[in-house]
Amino acid sequence: MKYFIKTFGCQQNLTDSGRIENAFQARGMTKASSIKEADYVIINTCMVRRSAEDRVYGMVINLNKIKKKRSLKIIVTGCMVGIAARDTTGKYLQKLKERMPEVDEFMPIEEVGFDNPAVQTDPNTGFVVISNGCNNFCTYCVVPFSRGKEVSRPYKDIINECLELKKRGYRMVTLLGQNVNSYGSDLLLNGAKIPVLNDLGGNPINRKGKGSHGVKNAVSSEVKDFKPVYVKHLGKHRIPTLFPHLLEEVAKMGFEKVDFMSSNPWDFSDELIGVIAKYPNITRTIHLPIQSGDDEVLKRMNRWYTTKEYLDLISKIKDQISNVKFTTDIIVGFCGETDEEFENTYKLCKKVGFEKAYVARYSPRPQTAATKNLIDDVPPAVKKKRWLKLDSLIFKPIRNQK
Ligand code: SF4
Repeated sequence: MKYFIKTFGCQQNLTDSGRIENAFQARGMTKASSIKEADYVIINTCMVRRSAEDRVYGMVINLNKIKKKRSLKIIVTGCMVGIAARDTTGKYLQKLKERMPEVDEFMPIEEVGFDNPAVQTDPNTGFVVISNGCNNFCTYCVVPFSRGKEVSRPYKDIINECLELKKRGYRMVTLLGQNVNSYGSDLLLNGAKIPVLNDLGGNPINRKGKGSHGVKNAVSSEVKDFKPVYVKHLGKHRIPTLFPHLLEEVAKMGFEKVDFMSSNPWDFSDELIGVIAKYPNITRTIHLPIQSGDDEVLKRMNRWYTTKEYLDLISKIKDQISNVKFTTDIIVGFCGETDEEFENTYKLCKKVGFEKAYVARYSPRPQTAATKNLIDDVPPAVKKKRWLKLDSLIFKPIRNQK
């Protein structure tokens, strides 16, 4: 039996497909070089943009033409199924079944656990998932609904997978997650049942009777040897994280280059900057999504920083790490974005001089707060004009990504 996997979306989806591949190989199947010779076609879906979703529907229609002529199993997984799995009303799954009756199985990606290390496709760089999901709920983003709450992979499993890659001769390694710099917060906080994102009303990790940070007794035996790094944001403790420890331990393994993505401005701790500065083999190109260069738009997006805080962070990193470059993500045409607000984004981009930017035109995504509460009122032609204007700026935006 042969399988063929088609992946839409980001590097994390590609690595998830590597884990699916591992699971299929464990069942004795081999990889088909094309759909023509496949008995199973697995489609790993993305929902970050509507266009990616539409391409999945189109692909299934084409596969059905093959299915009418011979035996073929179609399995759909990834973000579209993630939303369906979390929708307690069952309506979203129903919608998928109606739109794609040809599909044999809608498989939640969680069925392929972290204990299936990804089959790597790049001969030089190993990609290692360290966490899945996100707790941040940016108002435009479907990820907290498609992938669910942030779950950190056990520390030792990550270390072992990286050591194995090193042994097999990989020169570079990239650590992956939706928000890598909050890695470990759930490992540290779950035992104490402290909500990770509760700091808008005060410091949630500074509670009576629970030690100095309220989580002393909650640290699992696996991570007890580390002193968690307490990230401060807007003057308050936000979360404890283990990412600086993890990154340092991987950097010490002797890879030529250690990279990570994505990181967010609010969990970028001083300790993390210190670790990057200390190890020359850690990347000097840091991906730091800004999304908008206007404070009012950032508020509507539920991004927890101001443009000033973002620029201050950039300066702090530049002061401590020589030759550092930045890449970013930007959304143009978000709900209510005025010409002036867009111009603020343009000016900020010019000021920072990003090496690259992943620029996307806003499109409403199901279940998100922006879809429910805001109006997608920037005309498509204006979105395109703004997108082209950023496109022609000195850096080179990469189209159609997050
Ligand atoms: S944009 Fe990133 S940080 Fe915000 S909700 Fe989506 S995955 Fe999380």
